[in-house]
Amino acid sequence: MKRYYAPALDRGVFDAEQSHHCSDVMRQKTGDVLSVFNGEGVEAKARITAIGKDEVKFEVLAKAASPRAAHPVWLAQALTKKTSMELILQKATELGVAAIAPLQSDHSVVQVDDEKSDAKLDKWRKLTIEAAKQCGQNWLPKVHVPQKPGEFMADLPKGAVKLIASLQHEAKPLKSVLRETLPALKPGTPIVIMVGPEGDFTPAEIGAARSAGFAPVSLGKIILRAETAAFFALSALAYELMD
Ligand code: SAH
Repeated sequence: MKRYYAPALDRGVFDAEQSHHCSDVMRQKTGDVLSVFNGEGVEAKARITAIGKDEVKFEVLAKAASPRAAHPVWLAQALTKKTSMELILQKATELGVAAIAPLQSDHSVVQVDDEKSDAKLDKWRKLTIEAAKQCGQNWLPKVHVPQKPGEFMADLPKGAVKLIASLQHEAKPLKSVLRETLPALKPGTPIVIMVGPEGDFTPAEIGAARSAGFAPVSLGKIILRAETAAFFALSALAYELMD
């Protein structure tokens, strides 16, 4: 069954973009039954009731809710080159992260200025919607506005588990850190993992993260590309958090 996204599921109407996709691209007809998710864990079986010029309406036939993850995972990803950043957003959505916070690291080759920030954010959010549509994920990650690492670190929920993927020799293996930390964790406590850009975090950024309570974690002896490091860390977390 084709999947569509409608944040206000109970209103029974797709926005202009989903309507266009549904009627013009997928050529759905009135009476077709499809699957609609709201990005907040709810998925519905729905039937198209009207196809207008810019608006497709539907009625909900049945709803089901996917539970929220016991521990929300936040990926704080230093901005990487466009294609790898887009891949990271896609894979992080598939892996069920609760939030993606793009960080303007001093070593990020791409910097997003204020003017382009809205367009970028819009593009990234659309990418997460497309990824969630395709893989059956009913929870959409919140995509934050790009921030400096310092701003991001100053504004984290109390009690969050804070990890930074680090190549420095004092970094402890992610596996042992998770096995020490997770069993005692209260449900709902966020786990934040920071991953650096192609050129790595600067020593000052790593120092600031450590002062803010981030534990440096190693992903093994091999220097992974930024996107591989993000996939590795998120997959390991998903594995350790699996029911
Ligand atoms: N250009 C740098 C590597 C940057 S890798 C160099 O050659 O040294 C990009 C990011 O991925 C790093 O900032 C770090 O956050 C993460 N990363 C890559 N491999 C890692 C590993 N083995 N352990 C921990 N973090 C790693």
